[in-house]
Amino acid sequence: MLSKYSAPLRNALLPSLAVLLIMVGLRASLSAPDCAGSTSCLDLALAAATAVLLLSLLVLANFRSRHRRRTMTLLSAAAKRAADGVPPAPVLVQDRSELSELTHDFNRMLEGFASKLSDISEENKQLAVLSEYTTDGALITDELGSVQFINPAATQLLNCSPARAVGSQVAELLRHHQLIELWQTARASGRRQVQAVEIGSTLFLHAAVTPFSDAEAKGFLIILQDLTHVRRLETVRRDFISNISHELRTPLASVRAVIETLQDGALEEPDVARRFLSHAEREVDTLSQMVQELMELSRIESGQAPLTLNPTTVSELLLIPLDRLRSQAKRKKVDLILDLPPALPAVMADAARVQQVATNLIHNAIKFSPAGSSVKLWAHVVQSDGRDDADKEHGAVVISVKDNGVGISAEDLPRIFERFFKSDRARTRGSGGTGLGLAIARHIVQAHGGRIWAVSKEGKGSTFMFTLPIARQTTRAAS
Ligand code: ADP
Repeated sequence: MLSKYSAPLRNALLPSLAVLLIMVGLRASLSAPDCAGSTSCLDLALAAATAVLLLSLLVLANFRSRHRRRTMTLLSAAAKRAADGVPPAPVLVQDRSELSELTHDFNRMLEGFASKLSDISEENKQLAVLSEYTTDGALITDELGSVQFINPAATQLLNCSPARAVGSQVAELLRHHQLIELWQTARASGRRQVQAVEIGSTLFLHAAVTPFSDAEAKGFLIILQDLTHVRRLETVRRDFISNISHELRTPLASVRAVIETLQDGALEEPDVARRFLSHAEREVDTLSQMVQELMELSRIESGQAPLTLNPTTVSELLLIPLDRLRSQAKRKKVDLILDLPPALPAVMADAARVQQVATNLIHNAIKFSPAGSSVKLWAHVVQSDGRDDADKEHGAVVISVKDNGVGISAEDLPRIFERFFKSDRARTRGSGGTGLGLAIARHIVQAHGGRIWAVSKEGKGSTFMFTLPIARQTTRAAS
């Protein structure tokens, strides 16, 4: 209640003081002995009092207007900074007039404004992080399809630069007719559209176009999810099931045929019966090999077959498989050549398992080689196979198995390490095998921290290579 009157009271205080002073001055000068009854003295005193009063009012008015001007300038500067989005510092109250109340209110408004601004900028930061690091592509277009925003994942998926993308037409950017149609349908219907789109043979996208509209803008949000990897896994799983069924069906059908033939009378002819039985035995062997290999693969994959790693010489890893396969190579008239440099470092390996890898590779090389050709094995040291720091520090040994056989087509080459994969040629030649050998080899090599790959030219032959890390202590063991 009192504060309501404090400003007017304060404003009246100075003029009242001036009037009081003048009254005191007037009284003092009029009561002086030589002024008694003198009108000129009275005139002079009144004039002086009026002049003092005017002067003090002028000084007061000037003082007040200077303060107000300064306060107004500060308020205006703060308002301009706020309009530019810069959170301004509170304005100091310079004045004890009504403007002080306005300044207080203005400062309170600034505080609210600054806290809202910081909330918005925090939200913006979070949105920027989300759009920058999300693996899903995101685009925003306006109503007419002009791109307003694109995140890095979208520029990567659509193979364009952000500078080129923003401002361009969505159709130019999406380039694929199904994606463009999806946007057009969303625009025409005003409803969210979702579709899986396959772009070439390399990219599989899940696309969603959502129209949005609020008081300020209308447009479309396009989200592109890269499901290529998931799709590939699905294909591998589907192929796995169809392959395993196929692989089981053939020998089973063969055994059934043998049994039926025997039942139909072949049992009575001992020679024929023996032939059929040995055929059935081969099929049963293939089946049990497949089951064994499948169990081995699943044990390695599930980590139930821990490796026993020891420093091992490369010759120890290759000589045993070579001996095992020598008679097979001889039967096919294929030469086996081992060419190792005189001093090779020992590698960290589970010897029995790496011998299994070498056996699979040499076995394939012989199988797919023509008579009279040769299979060559050699090894060399590399500083790093580029996989991890351990290899960079200690290096690795690359073991190669090269043949001059049928080779592998460019189409099949990326798939040969998949479970049950067999090229059409391998199937039609009936070259045996379960299609699991390379899958097992890959798992074993990877469990050693190594890498396995192949280079091949159809009709010219193939080279399979795998790395093993060099043993840390015995870096210069004899090979
Ligand atoms: P399999 O036991 O049937 O040989 P693998 O997993 O060892 O199965 O090999 C898978 C497929 O890779 C083979 O069927 C064949 O098509 C191809 N392949 C592997 N090694 C060679 C090679 N040295 N030359 C040509 N093709 C090969």
